[in-house]
Amino acid sequence: MSTESTIHKVVIIGSGPSGWTAAIYAARANLDPVVYVGVPKQDPGPVLPGGQLMLTTDVENYPGFPDGIAGPEMMMKFEQQARRFGTEVIGEDITKCEFSSDGSPHTLHTSGGTTIQAHAVIISTGATANWIGLESEMKLATSGGGVSACAVCDGALPMFRDQHVAVVGGGDSAMEEATFLTKFASKVSVIHRRDELRASKVMQERFLAKENAEVLWNKTVIDCLSTPDEHGNEKIHAVRLKDTVTGEESELSVKGLFVAIGHSPATKFLQDTDLEFDDKGYIDLKNRSSKTNIEGVFAAGDVADSVYRQAITASGMGCTAALDAEHWLGSKDLI
Ligand code: NAP
Repeated sequence: MSTESTIHKVVIIGSGPSGWTAAIYAARANLDPVVYVGVPKQDPGPVLPGGQLMLTTDVENYPGFPDGIAGPEMMMKFEQQARRFGTEVIGEDITKCEFSSDGSPHTLHTSGGTTIQAHAVIISTGATANWIGLESEMKLATSGGGVSACAVCDGALPMFRDQHVAVVGGGDSAMEEATFLTKFASKVSVIHRRDELRASKVMQERFLAKENAEVLWNKTVIDCLSTPDEHGNEKIHAVRLKDTVTGEESELSVKGLFVAIGHSPATKFLQDTDLEFDDKGYIDLKNRSSKTNIEGVFAAGDVADSVYRQAITASGMGCTAALDAEHWLGSKDLI
């Protein structure tokens, strides 16, 4: 374990749209930002530097890209822009934070075993995919057994090609994943717990227009059934469903299950701090700003937004956080 002697003006944790936008603004304000982009991991689904857009095919609603842009390409451009103004980029996680109670500096521990200090910290670690919470689901998700929370990452695998697969969820993510899967699978069944989708009309229509698309209404998945393949590895062959109205149980034969039931904020590394969270576990922000309850600690993007959760709103929050951090550093004579 080593401790750096430099006290950074701003450390940004996370490298999605909010983190990179905060870095662009902070770098242009001569705050010499350092971005901890994180390391790729399974948690239990894939978590990548660049965040959720790394798992998104086409981003069609970010202004400035009239023909759309692939999520990973967009994140690469954000990073290039941040680097152009002198942002330092570090490929590690922040694993623990010790926030100072009287302002600064704050102490951060990295996955590389270093301890660093920063006057201002911007948390922009985003959110990760939720799971149904079944033992069979987790077992198959972590062993390549045909259960995934990311159709864009896994949907094109040979094991799902020309097979019947299912997607759980009724939001835009479920529609996006299901529509993507219709390109490869013989049939895609969306399993939704109500009789009405939450997804926007345009996303619903895009999916339902596909010949191999169907929605199973009022159903939840209560078990994933598997059998060993020729190598002895368990692979899903069916899901057990329960009707949410009648309680009736049934089985649906599928060779893949994609879970798209929303996300949770990535805040585990903050649990030992005095940071305040809202009732859903997102970082609580003060008075329409990026300020948290701790001086010098700001938050931006999906880690602090359970409502809008868009790339463009995350970017806007990143900008706000950099401006708030700059103003706060100035008010404390730290720049
Ligand atoms: P979401 O809007 O919160 O939808 C989650 C869906 O999963 C809901 O339909 C919910 O059912 C269902 N669900 C939640 N927990 C469940 C459980 N335990 N078992 C079964 N079903 C469960 O999440 P999202 O679809 O990930 O979207 C999040 C945000 O990102 C939204 O603002 C969305 O517009 C945006 N987004 C946009 C795009 C795009 O424009 N390209 C793509 C993806 C996401 P209920 O409906 O019954 O609550």
